[in-house]
Amino acid sequence: MKVLDLQCPHGHRFEGWFASADDFESQQARKLIECPICGANEVSRLPSAPRLNLSGATEAKNPAGLEQAQMQARVMRALREVLEKTENVGDRFAEEARRIHYNEAPARNIRGVTTPEDARALVDEGIQVMPLPVPAALKEPLQ
Ligand SMILES: [Zn+2]
Repeated sequence: MKVLDLQCPHGHRFEGWFASADDFESQQARKLIECPICGANEVSRLPSAPRLNLSGATEAKNPAGLEQAQMQARVMRALREVLEKTENVGDRFAEEARRIHYNEAPARNIRGVTTPEDARALVDEGIQVMPLPVPAALKEPLQ
């Protein structure tokens, strides 16, 4: 039994199981192999790939899931960028934000934790604060 990585003209990748490489070629010549996604019968054989590449086949079958994963990756990248460009002052956030606002500390972008009351007080004083939902997974390696 031979497992081959196949691709249709629309770029869908899938696995085909054949008795031998010859068996594949004869079925391919008679257009007996159909893409399981779109039904195209002009499939071509991909250079035998490591098992790792098979995840691409799963994603191609589920484009909505792929889009969601890409969206999540974009959000994570944007968040990571914010984290990299800000200084973590932890629970001294309100104090530090005030010091920066009143020129008692060097101007810079900071992040940290604060209570909703403190955040409101800062806004009342004209200090810009932005709530940032940071997934716990992102916080870990940066602290
Ligand atoms: Zn296809």
